[in-house]
Amino acid sequence: MTDEDPPEIPILCSECDTRTKIPFPEVEATVERHNEQLHDGEPVAQVDPAVFDELADFVAEDLGLYEDA
Ligand SMILES: [Zn+2]
Repeated sequence: MTDEDPPEIPILCSECDTRTKIPFPEVEATVERHNEQLHDGEPVAQVDPAVFDELADFVAEDLGLYEDA
């Protein structure tokens, strides 16, 4: 069995003016936590829209994202 490194996804937060790369499996939790802790739960931080479309296809296929939701 081989483990490939998960793709890193750029996260943008316009209010903090930060751009961070997060390994894909941690993206959702990281964004949620960031928004809860720094923005009172407002969805300020998000996946960089520029790469999201591109990655959505790739990641969904690669990781079977939608197989066991
Ligand atoms: Zn922020």
